[in-house]
Amino acid sequence: MTSSAYPSPSSTTQQCEIDFRSDTFTAPTQGMRRAMAEAAVGDDVYGEDPTVNALEDYASALLNKEAALFVPSGTMSNLIALLTHCQRGDEVIIGDQYHVYCHEAGGASTLGGIVMQPLPTTPTGGLSAQQVMAAIRPADFHFARSRLVSLENTVNGVIQPQAVIDDICQRAKAQQLNTHLDGARLMHAAVASQVPVASLVQHVDSVSLCLSKGLGAPVGSVLAGSADFIARARSYRKMLGGGMRQAGIIAAAGLYALEHQVTRLDEDHTLARYLSEQLSAIESLPFDSSRVSTNMLFIDFPKHGDQHLSEYLLAQGINIGDSAAQCRLVVHLNINREIIDRTVALIKKYYA
Ligand SMILES: *Cc1c(COP(=O)(O)O)cnc(C)c1O
Repeated sequence: MTSSAYPSPSSTTQQCEIDFRSDTFTAPTQGMRRAMAEAAVGDDVYGEDPTVNALEDYASALLNKEAALFVPSGTMSNLIALLTHCQRGDEVIIGDQYHVYCHEAGGASTLGGIVMQPLPTTPTGGLSAQQVMAAIRPADFHFARSRLVSLENTVNGVIQPQAVIDDICQRAKAQQLNTHLDGARLMHAAVASQVPVASLVQHVDSVSLCLSKGLGAPVGSVLAGSADFIARARSYRKMLGGGMRQAGIIAAAGLYALEHQVTRLDEDHTLARYLSEQLSAIESLPFDSSRVSTNMLFIDFPKHGDQHLSEYLLAQGINIGDSAAQCRLVVHLNINREIIDRTVALIKKYYA
C-alpha cells in the first residue's frame, strides 16, 4: 500500500454513475439539499453566519475540543493546523504515506517553511511511539526544531491502534511537542470501533475532519482544538483565502452530514466486508482481506498487467480507482448491495 494507491485524476477520468474510486464521489442526499436550501446565513468572515457557527459548535462538542473552524477542504484544514502549530524552520514528524506528507502538494513546506521528517510506516499505516521518540531532534543548533507530530486515522481505510496514538501523544507532550491528527475519515474509525469519536482525539492537540468524504457533504472540513489554537487558526484561514461569506449554505450540508449520516457508515462497513468476502472467494484474484477494516479495499495486481480490469469494468459503467500496481474500491452512500453483486459478477467473469 504505497502512494500509488491514490487514484490519479488522469487514470480514469470518465464520470459514471457507479463510482468506487473514492467516497468523495457522493452526491448530496435529498434531506441534505433541503437543509442547504433552507439554511440561515450571514457573513462568516464577520463571524455572523448562524449555520457556520452551529456547525462549529456541533463539531467542537462532538470532538470534545474547545473550538472548531469550518474550512473549505481537508488540505486547507491540515495546512492551517501545521501553520498554527509551527514557525518557519520548525519540523513535523510524520508517516511517509500520510496524506499531509505526500498528497497535499508540499504546502506546509512551500508556504510555511516547515521541515518534514517522514518516518516509514507499517503496511497498515502505523508508526510506533519508539520510532517517533527516536526521531525527535536534540536541542542543538544543527537541527531544525522538532515541534509537531502529525498522525492520521484511518490510514487508507485502516483503523489505527488507539493505545499507540495515545502513547505517542502523551510522550510527545512530555517532550514539548504538539500533536495533530488528520482525521479525514475519523468518523469511520469511531463508528466501526463503536466508541465516541471524542475518545479517539482525547490526547491530540488538533484534529481535522472531512465532511466531504464518506459523510456525503459536497464540500468542507472542520478543524478543532483549543480556543486559543482556533483563534490563531482563523487568521491563517483568512490568509489562505479560506474565509467565506454566506458559507452557511455549504455548512448546512456538513451539519446535516454530522447529524444524519454518521451512523449509516455502518452500512458501508458491512457492505465493504461483504465485498471483501466475495473477492476473497475468487481463486485467481490475489486479494488480501485482512486490510479491510472500514470502507476501503485494495486489489494488488499480479505482475502481468491486470490494470486492464479497470478498463473492462469502466466499459460496463463501473469506475474503480487504479494505478499500475493496484486498484482501490471505496464503499460509500451511493454504493449498494445490488451494485456490489453486479461488480463482483463482472470481476469473477474477468478472472474466469
Ligand atoms: C482527502 C484527504 C485529505 C484532504 O481532504 P481534501 O478535502 O480532499 O483536501 C486529507 N487527509 C486524508 C487522509 C484524506 O483522505
